[in-house]
Amino acid sequence: MSKREIYNFSPGPAALPKEVVLKVKQELADYAGLGYSILEMSHRSKTFVKIIEDCKRKLLNFLNLASGYHVLFFQGGATTEFFRVAYNLLGAGKTADYLETGVWVKKAIQEANNVSQVKVVASSKDEGFSYIPPLDGVEFSPEAEYIYLCSNNTVVGTQYKTFPKPHHGNYLVGDFTSDILSRECDLKDFGVIFAGAQKNLGPAGLVVVILRDDVLKKCRTDISGINSYLTMQEQNSLYNTAPVFQIYFMNLVLDWLEEQGGVKNISKTNAQKASMLYDVIDEHDLFVPTASREHRSLMNVTFKIAREDLTDLFVREAEEVGLVNLKGHRLVGGIRVSNYNAMPLSGIEKLCDFMKKFSQKN
Ligand code: PMP
Repeated sequence: MSKREIYNFSPGPAALPKEVVLKVKQELADYAGLGYSILEMSHRSKTFVKIIEDCKRKLLNFLNLASGYHVLFFQGGATTEFFRVAYNLLGAGKTADYLETGVWVKKAIQEANNVSQVKVVASSKDEGFSYIPPLDGVEFSPEAEYIYLCSNNTVVGTQYKTFPKPHHGNYLVGDFTSDILSRECDLKDFGVIFAGAQKNLGPAGLVVVILRDDVLKKCRTDISGINSYLTMQEQNSLYNTAPVFQIYFMNLVLDWLEEQGGVKNISKTNAQKASMLYDVIDEHDLFVPTASREHRSLMNVTFKIAREDLTDLFVREAEEVGLVNLKGHRLVGGIRVSNYNAMPLSGIEKLCDFMKKFSQKN
């Protein structure tokens, strides 16, 4: 433990619950008295299969999707899902509608277009992705297999407050990498939900996919192997060597979340933390918010310093008092405060205090 308390606002890999990191440290050399570590255990062992089953059950319970859904674990990060989702659900002659709200959707569109031709039905590119396009005006395609969106745009700091309604029997596909389990929302219209682990779930490298049963049944049967959802489901995500450490870690994060009172409680804390930050931004002319007010993210709070030459000083002085990794994404600059589940209220209080003092001084 460092002597001074450090608050890590990294966008991802992000701060993990301290209690979980310490528990992992404690049981790393000898898992459950077996005499060896989780890192050295067969992914097909009884012990690990129990971990994977527990992890799936807890995740679905937290999302209120306990029945009629499947959980798959893949290696390779959320980016690999951009391709895989299209590969499994599109194929020859099929198309999908994409809502372009930032770099992560742009990449998803690029990957989907390697499989089939998809349509961008709305975009906020014109204003640097600083808002979520209004959904009323969107002309969705009757033939679209699914509507694709990114729930929280990590780079620019925008977040959907409501989701579009599926139509013509299609369904939503959502990238929830940076806000899964952070707020209560009805996810029943989603046929596929996926999330890279490195923000609210655990260590990087793991991507979790939640598939609604009817959508699993629509997956292509003419493909097989590691990229086939059907194969992975049949093999309980053990088609090849599973990322045992990441899944074990995630399972512990879910226990921690339960101890925090589940999604219901943590969502209240997240909203409180975000509103404290936005209040400070709104009350000080030195801070200029970059995301449109109605789409402000509760997870990634972005702003610029009115005197841009002070941005580096802000980052440096924050670091000196233990508030680290606040620099904005290289594409947008400014400041980004990542406020994931594991960020304690005390971290945000300290940051708000620092911001007020910084504004007074400058
Ligand atoms: N989607 C979103 C919303 C993200 O924030 C990120 C990464 N920050 C990704 C996808 C890509 O994740 P990965 O680096 O795990 O492939």
